[in-house]
Amino acid sequence: MKKVAFIAGTAFCGSSLLNILLDTQAPAIRGLGERSQTDGEGGGPCAVCNSTVKECRLYSQWNGRDFYEFNFQHYGCGTLIDSSKRTNILRQGMAREPHFKYYVLHMSKTPHAAAHSIMKHWQYDYWDVRLAGSKRDITAAFKVWIETNQLYIDELRPVHLEGVKSVHYDALANNPAAVVEDICQWLGEPFNPERLRNWRSPTTHILGGNPAILMQVLGQASLPGGYLGGKYAEKTGKIFADEAWKRDKDFLAGAIEAYGRLSRKLNPVLAALHYGNSKQMIGECEQLLGDGLSGAETDSRRRPFVRICDFFNRRKAA
Ligand SMILES: [Zn+2]
Repeated sequence: MKKVAFIAGTAFCGSSLLNILLDTQAPAIRGLGERSQTDGEGGGPCAVCNSTVKECRLYSQWNGRDFYEFNFQHYGCGTLIDSSKRTNILRQGMAREPHFKYYVLHMSKTPHAAAHSIMKHWQYDYWDVRLAGSKRDITAAFKVWIETNQLYIDELRPVHLEGVKSVHYDALANNPAAVVEDICQWLGEPFNPERLRNWRSPTTHILGGNPAILMQVLGQASLPGGYLGGKYAEKTGKIFADEAWKRDKDFLAGAIEAYGRLSRKLNPVLAALHYGNSKQMIGECEQLLGDGLSGAETDSRRRPFVRICDFFNRRKAA
């Protein structure tokens, strides 16, 4: 039976990266991006046509019904990935097309990594303009992580799924091949490591997603200003693990405090997503804080860049 794997997760959890990496396993798997983009007239963009959904060469031929069926017909694949993230979109899709097998990949960052992204997005808008009156409230950012992930866990509980798998951003960015292989196995689809090279030239009409990932895929700076304070500037063509925050001592100290303050609320969600507990998270932050103090500065130029080609280089050398 045909399968739909839905990527659930909070904003900036890495769902676009996961979608595009799974899409490399075409023709068995196709990463459609966000089906939710088809809900509005101006939805998109399509990564292949560089256009709105309405003007996309594929979806301009779609009659607006049975989205998954249309894509299965077009691509002839075994599994479709929908990275719409919000679980209400999944339930809507399942109600419309109940005859497929549904899986959920619950994608997440650790609370502190997520909080850093969330706070960053509170500071800049999509066009890299600094937002007036931005807040740098780490407790509020942690609460966003708790509440959204808890909501998804609660919403998925009564839904009839073939399975739910927790996927950690850190693991994906640092070892994409291992994570993609594991997911392929779980979905019963073949895995071909060579195909991971194809992540920059998708043939799937991927919809929406993180603009920074799109920039990297299309190899073009289509966003003025560089996006988010320029942190993605000149990083096209690389899998970019966003790890600059690991050297931000103020942030790490704030995170440790937040873990202490919110541990009761955090622990059930941390356990559900296979992160252990807040004590372990504090340990991780403390270790990073220690690293930062011991002058990891020389490392700083190298560490943020994690490339798929490293995987191939290591294999070649072995
Ligand atoms: Zn298209």
